[in-house]
Amino acid sequence: MRRYFCPHCANEVYFDNTACVKCKSTLGYLCSIDGFHASTVPSQSNSSVDHYCANRDLIGCNWIVEQDESLQFCISCRHTLVIPDLSAAPNVERWARLERAKRLLFYGLQKFHLPLDPRDDKLSRGLRFELKSDPLPVAGQETKTLTGHKGGLITINIMEADDDVRERHRVAMGEPYRTLIGHFRHEVGHYYWDRLVAEAGQIDAFRAMFGDERIAYTEALQRHYQNGAPLGWEALYVSSYASSHPWEDFAETWAHYFHIVDGLETAQSYAIGSPAVNTQTKISPYEWRDFDILIKAWVPLTIMMNAMNRSIGNSDFYPFVLSDAISAKLQFVHKLIHQTRS
Ligand SMILES: [Zn+2]
Ligand SMILES: [Zn+2]
Ligand SMILES: [Zn+2]
Repeated sequence: MRRYFCPHCANEVYFDNTACVKCKSTLGYLCSIDGFHASTVPSQSNSSVDHYCANRDLIGCNWIVEQDESLQFCISCRHTLVIPDLSAAPNVERWARLERAKRLLFYGLQKFHLPLDPRDDKLSRGLRFELKSDPLPVAGQETKTLTGHKGGLITINIMEADDDVRERHRVAMGEPYRTLIGHFRHEVGHYYWDRLVAEAGQIDAFRAMFGDERIAYTEALQRHYQNGAPLGWEALYVSSYASSHPWEDFAETWAHYFHIVDGLETAQSYAIGSPAVNTQTKISPYEWRDFDILIKAWVPLTIMMNAMNRSIGNSDFYPFVLSDAISAKLQFVHKLIHQTRS
């Protein structure tokens, strides 16, 4: 993402800031300008029509609702149909963490001009989210809320917002990386598969690249959880889970494409990384049409960032190796997104 500054005092601020730490101005993020509005009067946003998201006080959503007095919530919060049960106090913080990650997701979706559709129309194919915990046991029987996607409705188990729970799942699954933004970017990959592949006449091209998705899904996942990924999966799949089924391969690849483009935008904004990032300085990586430049800029950046992380004892920034086969899949996603835009 880009680098941001307080419009009042020019101090650097983060994407999530609700106030400037230097001049104490109240900050609101405006998607239309990809920047902040600063106010010395806390309740005022930038015009009589624009106003702060109604979730601001409760969960620190710093986005501004633009050009519509009738809407209570910002574009990201509006797409959440079900919020966690707030009678359990820790759920407020979990919800806040999830929405923080979701705003970063929506930042990318909007920069790519991907279709969202309003959530209000229950019949629409719009992107919707439900953020839920596990249901209470019925007659001693426990059931789980599974993170997943169905027909545009994305379910996230809110316990993933707890660092200890997420880390436990990461270790149990043998994953090198597990984050909330990773979940969101993966799950919307399934939604956009419906929209940009299945409904857009791209199914043959998809099968040629990712394999035939008509193989039984549930059995494929069971097989993956029982036996793990096939030997040598690293050459073909960006993650072990991607090898479980062509749909999962696509969603994993989609998520990585978002990681790469947003990571490059951050690098560009701070002028770090390879010359390839800096030669493109005027254009955001979200606009780069040339996929080769994107990958050539990303790989050396990840090596540098991994080294940075190792130097202070953190795990790798990007613990993945992009083979030619994986790059070809990323390029497939790149083309789909850019075709949709034009
Ligand atoms: Zn300031
Ligand atoms: Zn909001
Ligand atoms: Zn999935």
